[in-house]
Amino acid sequence: MPYHLDKTLDKVVRNLKAKGKRMTSTRRVVLGSLLHAKKPLSAYELMDYCASTFEHSLQAMSVYRALEFLESEHLVHKLNTSNKFVACSHIAQSHEHGVAQFLICSKCDKIAEQQIDPILIDALTKHARKQGFTLIQPQLEIECICDACK
Ligand SMILES: [Zn+2]
Ligand SMILES: [Zn+2]
Repeated sequence: MPYHLDKTLDKVVRNLKAKGKRMTSTRRVVLGSLLHAKKPLSAYELMDYCASTFEHSLQAMSVYRALEFLESEHLVHKLNTSNKFVACSHIAQSHEHGVAQFLICSKCDKIAEQQIDPILIDALTKHARKQGFTLIQPQLEIECICDACK
C-alpha cells in the first residue's frame, strides 16, 4: 500500500479503535483498494483490483462482509444506481456523517461526494410525505459530465 494511503488508513484505524471497532486485514485492503482506485468498483471488480494491484486475493464472501462493515461505519458508500462501492471522501475525519450526494461523470466515472444540506433533506421529507411516502434512503446520485469530459 502506498505511504500516503497507509497514513490515511492508520488514522481510520485510530478512529475505529476509539469507537471500540476493529480494522481487520481484509477490511484494510478492501478500503485501501477503493482509496487507491479513486473510482467506484463493484465487489467483483474490487476483488480483481486487490489481486492485481496488491497481490492480495480475497473470497467474494469476505469482500462483501468487509464492505458491509465499512459501509456501516460510513467509510465506504454504496451507489445504488450502479451497485458499486466508493471510499468516503472525508474518510479520516471522525465527526458524524450526514446524507451524501454524489456527482458522477457518466463518461469517465469520476465521482465527487458532497454533504446534502439538512434543510434540503427536510424539504424532501415533507414533499414525500405529501404524496404518502416516507423517505428511507435520501442519498442522491446525480448523473453529470465532468469538466474534463465536457
Ligand atoms: Zn462519505
Ligand atoms: Zn468525466
